Amino acid sequence: MSDDVARLAELLRGSSRAVVFTGAGISTESGIPDFRSPGGIWTKMSPIDFQDFVASAEMRREAWRRRFAMEGSWSDARPNAGHLAVAALARSGKVSEVITQNVDNLHQESGIPPERVIELHGNTRYAKCLDCGERMEIADIRKHFEDFGDPPDCPACDGVVKTATISFGQAMPELEMARAQAATMACDLFLVLGSSLVVYPAAAFPLVAKRNGAKLVIVNREETEQDPYADLVLHSEIGPTMGAAVNVL
Ligand SMILES: [Zn+2]
Repeated sequence: MSDDVARLAELLRGSSRAVVFTGAGISTESGIPDFRSPGGIWTKMSPIDFQDFVASAEMRREAWRRRFAMEGSWSDARPNAGHLAVAALARSGKVSEVITQNVDNLHQESGIPPERVIELHGNTRYAKCLDCGERMEIADIRKHFEDFGDPPDCPACDGVVKTATISFGQAMPELEMARAQAATMACDLFLVLGSSLVVYPAAAFPLVAKRNGAKLVIVNREETEQDPYADLVLHSEIGPTMGAAVNVL
């Protein structure tokens, strides 16, 4: 066992209420592409802004075409060793909440109860009406799209239907932001896994935790701007690192 893993395990042992904060890096280990990384999809194709989605039927068709093209990446992905290590920490009571920037549902699939996963950027595995919030399933929308060339309107209120994600230009979800803030203020250890900590306001949480007296750990393949403030920084893969630390707890 490396000294870094031993130190991570020691910090986990000393914590009675940890919060885990995850970004794209934990899910790339499950084969989900990081849209924002160099060579990622958003460096080749600009994301569709929320205002454009709402204003234009053509933009909505394009957004749904892209979503359906990605379906294999989402539906084939399974939780990896990193997700499973976090789930073990949640099961044991060590981790109170998981705050995630990911939209892939893999924390829930790893066995963490949905009410303990705080999704800052929503979830792409289902859709919602922008007006009334009615949930719709991606497969049903795809069937309608293939039959009629357009996504369906909301069956309840005729509103616009969109994946349950937070797009560029869309307001952050108030309830989730408030829950993330509360979890951050209540924790004694804040563990960042696979986030480059560049997308605000989500990226503000680690320093909020640190200023509030929590220990801060960052596990990410690349350096982050917040590395200098952390009690421990590991530039390593998340699955093997977290798996090893949880094994020795
Ligand atoms: Zn509706």
